[in-house]
Amino acid sequence: MRLVLVGPPGAGKGTQAEFIAAHLSVPKISTGDIFRANVASGTPLGKEAKRYMDAGQLVPDEVTINMVRDRLGEPDAADGFLLDGFPRTVRQASALDKMLADLGTGLDLALELIVEEDEVIRRLSGRRTCRGCGKVWHLEYDPPRTSDVCDRCGGELYQRDDDKPETIAERLKVYARDTAPLIDYYGAQGKLVGIDATGPVEDVTARAIDVLRSYCG
Ligand code: ADP
Ligand code: AMP
Repeated sequence: MRLVLVGPPGAGKGTQAEFIAAHLSVPKISTGDIFRANVASGTPLGKEAKRYMDAGQLVPDEVTINMVRDRLGEPDAADGFLLDGFPRTVRQASALDKMLADLGTGLDLALELIVEEDEVIRRLSGRRTCRGCGKVWHLEYDPPRTSDVCDRCGGELYQRDDDKPETIAERLKVYARDTAPLIDYYGAQGKLVGIDATGPVEDVTARAIDVLRSYCG
């Protein structure tokens, strides 16, 4: 199955992607995670991406599309994948369609996670990420026992620079301007399904899996 997750920053895409990808036995491919790994290891790609990420802007399409093309060319993505955080512009979406068409295949579904803006802001403001294993926590909704230590691996928890209030506001603007048009793009292709992404994480996962079962068998 070839799926993309659509929704504003903080909608829970990364959180749901873990569970849905495990359920479907496909790799979860998160462009944000790939960029952050490159930033952490100081690669040229990371250095370029960081400028945009810290400002709450999108990394240019060309860079992002090439990175995703390389990743989708790896053997584990041959039979399916779940994309988290890509596409984020209509240009990226049409590049993805073209990449898949060149491989003789296509996207099955775009799953939209629907969450009101005030809840998204609460989720982003309380998000904490583990430097060790990358697990995402929330200070209020999914709190670790100690606010700066990961219960899973003992790693240090940090607040992403782009989860500071000024950057959150910018990212939401960018989402409305550049990414929200994907809803119409996939709607016009008959591939869009939206689910209510509020409430406990496991309830959202169950809704997602129900939808996938009914649309994709
Ligand atoms: P995205 O990948 O869409 O930016 P995340 O998956 O990182 O979003 O989730 C943002 C924050 O919201 C994280 O701190 C996460 O723990 C929390 N979160 C995710 N899903 C839920 C949910 N259903 N209810 C409450 N908090 C959630
Ligand atoms: P995320 O982890 O999905 O919230 O992404 C963090 C940041 O990485 C975004 O704010 C962008 O700066 C960058 N990024 C991730 N995915 C993309 C994408 N598809 N296109 C452009 N920039 C991206």
